[in-house]
Amino acid sequence: MNILPKRKLAVDGGAPVRTRLLPYGRQTIDDNDVAAVVASLRSDWLTTGPKVAEFERALAAVAGTSDAVAVSTGTAALHAAMYALGVGPGDEVLVTTMTFAASANCAAFLGATPVFVDVDPDTLLIDPQQVEIHITPRTKAVVAVDYAGQPCDYDALESITRKHGLALVDDACHAIGGSYRGRPVGSLALLNTFSFHPVKHVATGEGGAITTSDAELARRLRLFRNHGITTDFRERAEKGAFAYEMIDLGYNYRLSDIQCALGITQLAKLPASVARRQAIAAQYDVAFAKVSGVKPLAVRSDVSHAYHLYVIRLDLDALAVDRATIFGALRAEGIGVNVHYLPVHLHPYYQNKLGIGKGLCPVAEAAYQRILSLPMFPAMTDDDVSDVVEAVEKVLSHYHR
Ligand SMILES: *Cc1c(COP(=O)(O)O)cnc(C)c1O
Repeated sequence: MNILPKRKLAVDGGAPVRTRLLPYGRQTIDDNDVAAVVASLRSDWLTTGPKVAEFERALAAVAGTSDAVAVSTGTAALHAAMYALGVGPGDEVLVTTMTFAASANCAAFLGATPVFVDVDPDTLLIDPQQVEIHITPRTKAVVAVDYAGQPCDYDALESITRKHGLALVDDACHAIGGSYRGRPVGSLALLNTFSFHPVKHVATGEGGAITTSDAELARRLRLFRNHGITTDFRERAEKGAFAYEMIDLGYNYRLSDIQCALGITQLAKLPASVARRQAIAAQYDVAFAKVSGVKPLAVRSDVSHAYHLYVIRLDLDALAVDRATIFGALRAEGIGVNVHYLPVHLHPYYQNKLGIGKGLCPVAEAAYQRILSLPMFPAMTDDDVSDVVEAVEKVLSHYHR
């Protein structure tokens, strides 16, 4: 890489690689999606109509489960999952610390305590050995996160949770369309949660879902998303009935028919969009193998990685500056890098609430200093990918020791 002539960085007033910022993630909306939403607007149903059931069937087919329950966000999906499992005050829920806060918040919503678990240094996925170490008589469930889109080691997690009588939840918000040992994401845990936020694979604006093959859990999820009421409006309309009963305290976590109409056309594009993400990742892999100072995360051979994120680790020993400087320099070059994530146990809320802090999960804390998420979305062109590679080479060669 030192054969490249040193060019003035954009942060130092040089010409940027790109003049318009390339975001790290972005939805793909085509004419089919627009037509589906318009048709839904013109239909009899704006919410809780036939498109909800159709979207749920399509999701269950992708996941290979008997049920899918659509909800308003990925966070609502996690909240509903904890409710369905009966998580409550006094319970502990083991959760990877290398995730978005919602993976842990769902336990706190119900009065339970999230217990943060460290990750494998090469994949940043929850470390099954660390899971086992943190199990106590209060532990009720384990929330694994398929970080970046790579499924966790579910055979190991399953054998630990079965041995200790715990429920296993896959926060699969990064990984729809991926698989583990030939089994699709969505079927890998007892409950599996998804987000349909625009940076995720399937966009419905806001949206989420839970997949499961446990009929009783599916019933509880449906109850929770509709105020704890036993029937929904469409079921009553079909039966010509007016009476309903609220049997538990639930929320309005419904996803609208308009959003589900979009979800159906979005889901149809999933195989192609995962393939495009994998192709972009392969281009990055080849390019960065030749760049000193950067190392992609490890990918196990028994998974199909869905690549919500493409995460690189900076080799800080080879660089004269820290991650924040590299981040700023890449942004100035027009590359919308991001950081996923500040380990959740380091957020002030949990530090204060639980009396925890630095040192709890040393592997995740060390990784946090080094990670950067590069742009990764299906609509990226090969030129976009080249711009990212060029900017990373330019910035890292500049700051190389
Ligand atoms: C996006 C995300 C969520 C939350 O999803 P929302 O739809 O934004 O509520 C939860 N967990 C993970 C790992 C996520 O990436």
